Amino acid sequence: MQCIRRIAFSLALLVAAACAQTQDPPDIFLITVDTLRADRVNGENAVATRGFARLAAAGVTFTQAFTSTPLTSPAHASILTGRYPAVHGVHDFGFPLPESMTTLAEVLKQSGYQTAAFVGALVLDSKTLAPGFDQGFDTYFNFPAGKKEGSRWGRLERRAGDVVAEAERWLAAHRSGPRFVWVHLYDPHDPYEPPEPFAAQFRGREYDGEVAYADSELARFLEFLNANGWYRDALIIATGDHGEGLGDHGEDSHGILLYDSTLHVPLVVKPAGDRPNRKVVDALVRGVDLFATMVEAVGAPASKTDGTSLSPLWRGIDDSARQLVAETQYPLRFGWAPLLALRSESHKLVEAPRVEFYDLKSDPGETRNVYQPWSEDVRRLRTALRHYRESAPRPAPQNAKVLQSTLDELKALGYLGNDPGASEVPEPSLLPDPKDRIAVHNALHAAMMLESQGNDRGAREALNRALALEPESFPGRSQAGMLELRAGNHRAAVAHLKRAHQIRPKDASVAFALGDALFALKDFAAARSALNAALQLDPRRYEARVRLGEAESALGNLTVALAHFEAAALLQPDRTEADVASARVYLTRGENARAIPLLRRAARKAPDDASIATLLAEAEKRPASKK
Ligand SMILES: [Zn+2]
Repeated sequence: MQCIRRIAFSLALLVAAACAQTQDPPDIFLITVDTLRADRVNGENAVATRGFARLAAAGVTFTQAFTSTPLTSPAHASILTGRYPAVHGVHDFGFPLPESMTTLAEVLKQSGYQTAAFVGALVLDSKTLAPGFDQGFDTYFNFPAGKKEGSRWGRLERRAGDVVAEAERWLAAHRSGPRFVWVHLYDPHDPYEPPEPFAAQFRGREYDGEVAYADSELARFLEFLNANGWYRDALIIATGDHGEGLGDHGEDSHGILLYDSTLHVPLVVKPAGDRPNRKVVDALVRGVDLFATMVEAVGAPASKTDGTSLSPLWRGIDDSARQLVAETQYPLRFGWAPLLALRSESHKLVEAPRVEFYDLKSDPGETRNVYQPWSEDVRRLRTALRHYRESAPRPAPQNAKVLQSTLDELKALGYLGNDPGASEVPEPSLLPDPKDRIAVHNALHAAMMLESQGNDRGAREALNRALALEPESFPGRSQAGMLELRAGNHRAAVAHLKRAHQIRPKDASVAFALGDALFALKDFAAARSALNAALQLDPRRYEARVRLGEAESALGNLTVALAHFEAAALLQPDRTEADVASARVYLTRGENARAIPLLRRAARKAPDDASIATLLAEAEKRPASKK
């Protein structure tokens, strides 16, 4: 029976492939909506009633679709490559998608497609936080480089309407197919700030308002395709990258735990040219299956993938059960254990310091941990997980080379940008279990969002809550220290930063901030030692080099100070602080002939800087120098 079924299945695939080859390759539109819970698209809590619903009327709704990671960049990397994070290596923000990976855009480009990506958040910007994600794309709609101030809109994230408008402009200018367009709508990610009329309509349910807004923009995009005659014959896929906790299992946002609230995503596939069929598939499917689904639709040669095409499911010729591997390494940034899970249609095993096992048929809410190490079901899932671990190639550890300024921007998006510190962890299972620290994460996350909205008081309260629960929280101490440093409360800053520096002596940002705060308190010797530590960890940090020079200068070591300023000027020749600091030392020594050329150079670099102009005028008025 099994054998006959398999032959029938293979024949059907052959027929399907033959059919696909006789037609022109279809346009492919992939729309990913960030932070989108499955229950907001299907079921009684649904608010995505326009875009997703329209697509569902002409396509296939997958009620049991899951992401492999509840984090934006790893989840998208899995959709774009069909590989699990263990293979593509993007475990967290800023991790590059390696050149060696074959992306969907590359496969489609080789099949003659024009390719374009329109992303809604800086976390997917291929020039900064998502290097390598633009592989195979002719156009990748990045964010303007170096924009540090002003509103979050256009700098950290874009409204769905702006992303869709850009995609429409590109399509209007590239009318001949086939085309592959990926559109990423970020709006449902917090802070939840839906625009009108959704804000008024969903008052008190702002997350739902954001979902309804993003869905309305999806609807607008589908209508644009339809109006241009590009809808019927296109393969269109709309899905989410991960869900949102909204308090389920104590998790407010996402990224820390592996429950279905953040792994379960909506997925609707409208096959090319098919008649409206409102099909519903309840089998478990995964983000990694989308790659094979799209590659098959084009008739392109098969690439290596961890997924399998979904089309046999909606054709009713596949009844093989899939299993999902899910991971999160984001807890490492907080000093907590990473998690790995295996989810079948009936059970879920979460490998954590305290292992969890759920019978999803009797307990879909994952509320009763029924883990028994000797249970047959546990052993079955554990064996599958071991096979997964053993089969996954071990990519060389990739140090994310992301600029500090960009990592600082991450905070405004609600993510911690510090070094995960994974390399210093001998045995992750000895770290605290993230489920025991979820309240700490909620408070730290709230603090980041409040600070990015300019609410220092609220941020301070949230940090105090986090530190009351976990006094030795590295991110708690460092965030509190940075906040107080910025607010000018230097004593409080030093108290927090000293503890953070003790917890993670290898964090360059904390060492630098501690040096900065000590310098402000005029404790120059202590500042010097913290700044030296920062520079040993990150010798290219310009601000630390200048500040160290200033500390040496205050301690009377003028020659040493000058050497640091010179080194800083070599690091960043466009900046003026090191030149001005050198000039001040020369002026102290009465050597204004040496100070003047430095100040002139600084004035050329920053013609609008009044303080440089004043200092230069003073230096030029002084009598000729001693040397
Ligand atoms: Zn996301």
